[in-house]
Amino acid sequence: MDRSENMRAIRGKNTKPEIEVRSLVHKLGYRFRLHRPDLPGKPDLAFPARRKVIFVHGCFWHSHACKPGLIPRSNRDFWLPKLRLNKSRDRRTLKQLAREGWNALVIWECELKDTRALRQKVTRFLGRRRSASNPANESSF
Ligand SMILES: [Zn+2]
Repeated sequence: MDRSENMRAIRGKNTKPEIEVRSLVHKLGYRFRLHRPDLPGKPDLAFPARRKVIFVHGCFWHSHACKPGLIPRSNRDFWLPKLRLNKSRDRRTLKQLAREGWNALVIWECELKDTRALRQKVTRFLGRRRSASNPANESSF
C-alpha cells in the first residue's frame, strides 16, 4: 500500500474489501443501498426493508483482534490515539444504530479470505432473501 492508498483506506469509501463484500452480497441475491447519509456512520451497505446494515472494516483502522489489527510497535504515540478514536467512533455508531432500531453486522477485512464462511455469516444475518418472483413480499414493508 502506498501512502495515498493508505489515506484512502482511513475514511475509505469504495475500498477493495468493501467492493468484494458488495459483490458477494449481491451475488447472494440481496439488494442494498450504499452509504446512506441519513444513517449513523453511513453504513457501507444498508438493507432498509430489513432494517439491517453491514459495515466492512479494515482490520488495522478499526483495531480488529487479529494480526493485521495489531497496533504497530513503532510510532505508538502517533497511532494509539487515532486508532482509539476510530474504535470509540465505531462503538458510538453501533449504539446509535441500535437505538434507532437497526441491526448491524461488521465484516472484517480478514474474513474475506474465507468466502464460504462469509457467505454463511451474511445469509444468517440477513435472513431469507425474497425471491424476485414474489413481489408481494417486497411491498409488505
Ligand atoms: Zn481482522
